[in-house]
Amino acid sequence: MSEIILVVGAHADDVDFSTSGTMSKWAKEGKEIHYLICTNGDKGGTQNEHTPEELVEIRKGEQIAAANIVGVKEVHFLGRGDGELMPDMKLREDIVRVIRQVKPDKMFSFDPANQSFDGFHLFHPDHRAVAISVFDAIYPAAKNRLYFPHLLEEGLEPHKVNELYFYGTKEPNIWIDISDTIDQKIACLREHKSQFSDMRAEMIEQFVRQRCMDAGKEKGLEYAEAFRMISFPF
Ligand SMILES: [Zn+2]
Repeated sequence: MSEIILVVGAHADDVDFSTSGTMSKWAKEGKEIHYLICTNGDKGGTQNEHTPEELVEIRKGEQIAAANIVGVKEVHFLGRGDGELMPDMKLREDIVRVIRQVKPDKMFSFDPANQSFDGFHLFHPDHRAVAISVFDAIYPAAKNRLYFPHLLEEGLEPHKVNELYFYGTKEPNIWIDISDTIDQKIACLREHKSQFSDMRAEMIEQFVRQRCMDAGKEKGLEYAEAFRMISFPF
Protein backbone atom coordinates (compact mmCIF):
# COMPACT_ATOMS: atom_id res chain seq x y z
CA MET A 1 0.00 0.00 0.00
CA SER A 2 1.36 3.43 -0.84
CA GLU A 3 2.38 5.75 1.94
CA ILE A 4 -0.11 8.50 2.80
CA ILE A 5 1.08 12.05 3.54
CA LEU A 6 -0.98 14.91 5.05
CA VAL A 7 0.47 18.43 4.82
CA VAL A 8 -1.21 21.09 6.96
CA GLY A 9 -1.02 24.81 6.20
CA ALA A 10 -2.74 27.79 7.76
CA HIS A 11 -3.25 29.61 4.46
CA ALA A 12 -3.35 28.82 0.77
CA ASP A 13 0.33 29.01 -0.37
CA ASP A 14 1.94 27.96 2.98
CA VAL A 15 2.35 24.39 1.76
CA ASP A 16 3.74 25.56 -1.58
CA PHE A 17 6.43 27.71 0.01
CA SER A 18 7.46 24.96 2.39
CA THR A 19 6.86 21.46 0.99
CA SER A 20 5.79 21.47 -2.68
CA GLY A 21 9.23 20.34 -3.95
CA THR A 22 9.15 17.31 -1.66
CA MET A 23 5.48 16.57 -2.37
CA SER A 24 6.01 16.77 -6.16
CA LYS A 25 8.86 14.28 -5.79
CA TRP A 26 6.92 11.93 -3.52
CA ALA A 27 3.77 12.07 -5.67
CA LYS A 28 5.90 10.93 -8.63
CA GLU A 29 7.16 8.06 -6.45
CA GLY A 30 3.56 6.96 -5.87
CA LYS A 31 2.89 8.37 -2.42
CA GLU A 32 -0.68 9.60 -1.77
CA ILE A 33 -0.56 13.31 -0.87
CA HIS A 34 -3.30 15.29 0.90
CA TYR A 35 -3.36 18.97 1.86
CA LEU A 36 -5.32 20.49 4.74
CA ILE A 37 -5.71 24.30 4.55
CA CYS A 38 -7.19 25.70 7.76
CA THR A 39 -8.25 29.23 6.76
CA ASN A 40 -10.33 30.46 3.85
CA GLY A 41 -8.03 33.34 2.87
CA ASP A 42 -10.66 36.04 3.24
CA LYS A 43 -8.16 38.68 4.40
CA GLY A 44 -5.22 37.72 2.20
CA GLY A 45 -3.86 39.62 -0.75
CA THR A 46 -2.11 42.85 -1.49
CA GLN A 47 -4.58 44.23 -3.99
CA ASN A 48 -7.82 45.66 -2.70
CA GLU A 49 -9.88 44.88 -5.77
CA HIS A 50 -11.65 41.83 -4.28
CA THR A 51 -14.28 41.43 -1.59
CA PRO A 52 -13.56 38.85 1.15
CA GLU A 53 -16.15 36.54 -0.45
CA GLU A 54 -14.41 36.78 -3.82
CA LEU A 55 -11.03 36.18 -2.20
CA VAL A 56 -12.25 32.95 -0.58
CA GLU A 57 -13.18 31.50 -3.99
CA ILE A 58 -10.07 32.83 -5.75
CA ARG A 59 -7.64 31.48 -3.15
CA LYS A 60 -9.35 28.11 -3.02
CA GLY A 61 -9.03 27.85 -6.80
CA GLU A 62 -5.38 28.89 -6.70
CA GLN A 63 -4.56 26.29 -4.05
CA ILE A 64 -6.30 23.54 -6.01
CA ALA A 65 -4.45 24.57 -9.20
CA ALA A 66 -1.12 24.42 -7.34
CA ALA A 67 -2.04 21.05 -5.81
CA ASN A 68 -2.80 19.71 -9.29
CA ILE A 69 0.74 20.61 -10.42
CA VAL A 70 2.08 18.54 -7.51
CA GLY A 71 -0.28 15.61 -8.07
CA VAL A 72 -2.12 15.94 -4.74
CA LYS A 73 -5.01 13.50 -4.32
CA GLU A 74 -7.27 15.83 -2.32
CA VAL A 75 -7.20 19.32 -0.78
CA HIS A 76 -9.21 19.57 2.46
CA PHE A 77 -10.36 23.01 3.67
CA LEU A 78 -11.49 23.93 7.19
CA GLY A 79 -12.73 27.32 5.98
CA ARG A 80 -11.86 29.27 9.13
CA GLY A 81 -11.56 33.07 8.95
CA ASP A 82 -8.11 34.36 8.04
CA GLY A 83 -6.17 35.46 11.16
CA GLU A 84 -8.71 33.87 13.49
CA LEU A 85 -7.16 30.46 14.25
CA MET A 86 -6.72 29.67 17.93
CA PRO A 87 -5.02 26.54 19.29
CA ASP A 88 -8.22 25.48 21.03
CA MET A 89 -10.13 22.19 21.33
CA LYS A 90 -12.29 22.99 18.28
CA LEU A 91 -9.29 23.40 15.97
CA ARG A 92 -7.70 20.27 17.48
CA GLU A 93 -10.91 18.32 16.85
CA ASP A 94 -11.19 19.55 13.26
CA ILE A 95 -7.60 18.41 12.56
CA VAL A 96 -8.21 15.06 14.33
CA ARG A 97 -11.26 14.53 12.11
CA VAL A 98 -9.18 14.95 8.94
CA ILE A 99 -6.37 12.75 10.36
CA ARG A 100 -8.88 9.98 11.02
CA GLN A 101 -10.39 10.39 7.54
CA VAL A 102 -7.10 10.46 5.63
CA LYS A 103 -5.09 8.07 7.91
CA PRO A 104 -1.65 9.54 7.10
CA ASP A 105 1.65 7.80 7.86
CA LYS A 106 3.51 11.12 7.82
CA MET A 107 2.36 14.68 8.48
CA PHE A 108 3.92 18.10 7.84
CA SER A 109 3.29 21.36 9.69
CA PHE A 110 4.86 24.53 11.11
CA ASP A 111 7.45 24.09 13.89
CA PRO A 112 6.02 24.89 17.36
CA ALA A 113 9.60 25.17 18.67
CA ASN A 114 9.93 28.48 16.81
CA GLN A 115 9.43 30.95 19.62
CA SER A 116 12.13 33.54 18.99
CA PHE A 117 9.90 36.23 17.38
CA ASP A 118 12.90 37.50 15.43
CA GLY A 119 10.96 37.80 12.19
CA PHE A 120 7.37 38.03 11.07
CA HIS A 121 6.37 35.27 8.62
CA LEU A 122 6.94 32.30 10.95
CA PHE A 123 5.14 34.07 13.75
CA HIS A 124 1.86 34.87 12.02
CA PRO A 125 -0.80 34.01 14.63
CA ASP A 126 -2.37 31.42 12.32
CA HIS A 127 1.01 29.73 11.79
CA ARG A 128 1.58 29.51 15.55
CA ALA A 129 -1.93 28.12 16.12
CA VAL A 130 -1.47 25.43 13.45
CA ALA A 131 1.98 24.47 14.77
CA ILE A 132 0.63 23.70 18.24
CA SER A 133 -2.69 22.25 17.12
CA VAL A 134 -1.23 19.72 14.69
CA PHE A 135 1.13 18.35 17.33
CA ASP A 136 -1.69 18.19 19.88
CA ALA A 137 -4.00 16.51 17.37
CA ILE A 138 -1.46 13.79 16.58
CA TYR A 139 -0.48 13.20 20.19
CA PRO A 140 -2.49 11.91 21.78
CA ALA A 141 -5.96 12.84 20.47
CA ALA A 142 -6.03 11.21 17.01
CA LYS A 143 -4.98 7.80 18.31
CA ASN A 144 -7.04 7.80 21.51
CA ARG A 145 -10.71 6.82 21.20
CA LEU A 146 -11.66 8.69 24.39
CA TYR A 147 -10.91 12.04 22.71
CA PHE A 148 -13.91 13.39 20.79
CA PRO A 149 -15.97 10.19 21.20
CA HIS A 150 -18.65 11.50 18.80
CA LEU A 151 -16.10 11.03 15.98
CA LEU A 152 -16.53 7.28 16.52
CA GLU A 153 -20.20 7.75 15.68
CA GLU A 154 -19.07 9.35 12.38
CA GLY A 155 -17.20 6.10 11.71
CA LEU A 156 -13.82 7.71 12.37
CA GLU A 157 -11.64 5.24 14.25
CA PRO A 158 -8.45 6.27 16.12
CA HIS A 159 -5.37 6.61 13.94
CA LYS A 160 -1.66 6.80 14.82
CA VAL A 161 0.62 9.04 12.75
CA ASN A 162 4.21 7.72 12.61
CA GLU A 163 6.23 10.81 11.73
CA LEU A 164 5.78 14.58 11.92
CA TYR A 165 7.96 16.88 9.80
CA PHE A 166 8.20 20.52 10.84
CA TYR A 167 8.77 23.02 8.04
CA GLY A 168 10.06 26.56 8.49
CA THR A 169 12.24 25.03 11.19
CA LYS A 170 15.44 26.56 12.53
CA GLU A 171 16.92 23.18 13.45
CA PRO A 172 16.50 20.79 10.51
CA ASN A 173 17.54 17.16 10.82
CA ILE A 174 16.39 15.91 7.42
CA TRP A 175 17.02 17.26 3.92
CA ILE A 176 15.02 16.20 0.86
CA ASP A 177 16.69 16.58 -2.55
CA ILE A 178 14.28 18.59 -4.73
CA SER A 179 16.67 19.32 -7.60
CA ASP A 180 14.31 17.52 -10.01
CA THR A 181 11.17 19.29 -8.77
CA ILE A 182 12.32 22.86 -8.01
CA ASP A 183 10.63 24.04 -11.22
CA GLN A 184 7.34 22.45 -10.13
CA LYS A 185 7.69 24.23 -6.79
CA ILE A 186 8.11 27.58 -8.57
CA ALA A 187 5.13 26.79 -10.82
CA CYS A 188 3.01 26.09 -7.70
CA LEU A 189 3.94 29.44 -6.17
CA ARG A 190 3.05 31.22 -9.40
CA GLU A 191 -0.51 29.87 -9.16
CA HIS A 192 -1.14 32.14 -6.16
CA LYS A 193 -1.68 35.10 -8.47
CA SER A 194 -3.95 37.01 -6.08
CA GLN A 195 -1.05 37.25 -3.62
CA PHE A 196 1.73 38.42 -5.88
CA SER A 197 2.05 40.93 -8.69
CA ASP A 198 4.26 39.74 -11.59
CA MET A 199 7.19 41.74 -10.21
CA ARG A 200 6.76 40.25 -6.75
CA ALA A 201 6.46 36.78 -8.25
CA GLU A 202 9.93 37.27 -9.81
CA MET A 203 11.36 38.32 -6.45
CA ILE A 204 9.71 35.39 -4.71
CA GLU A 205 11.06 32.96 -7.29
CA GLN A 206 14.62 34.24 -6.71
CA PHE A 207 14.13 34.14 -2.95
CA VAL A 208 12.75 30.57 -2.96
CA ARG A 209 15.44 29.26 -5.33
CA GLN A 210 18.14 30.81 -3.15
CA ARG A 211 16.60 29.43 0.05
CA CYS A 212 16.44 25.91 -1.41
CA MET A 213 20.04 26.24 -2.69
CA ASP A 214 21.17 27.32 0.78
CA ALA A 215 19.29 24.39 2.35
CA GLY A 216 20.96 21.95 -0.03
CA LYS A 217 24.47 23.37 0.20
CA GLU A 218 25.64 21.66 3.38
CA LYS A 219 24.40 18.29 2.08
CA GLY A 220 25.92 18.69 -1.39
CA LEU A 221 22.51 19.02 -3.06
CA GLU A 222 21.64 21.56 -5.73
CA TYR A 223 18.20 22.29 -4.21
CA ALA A 224 16.68 20.93 -0.99
CA GLU A 225 13.80 21.41 1.42
CA ALA A 226 14.84 21.01 5.06
CA PHE A 227 12.66 19.77 7.93
CA ARG A 228 12.87 18.77 11.58
CA MET A 229 11.38 15.30 11.88
CA ILE A 230 10.17 13.62 15.02
CA SER A 231 8.73 10.13 15.21
CA PHE A 232 5.97 8.61 17.31
CA PRO A 233 7.14 5.00 17.71
CA PHE A 234 4.19 3.95 19.88
ZN1 LIG B 1 0.58 31.55 5.98
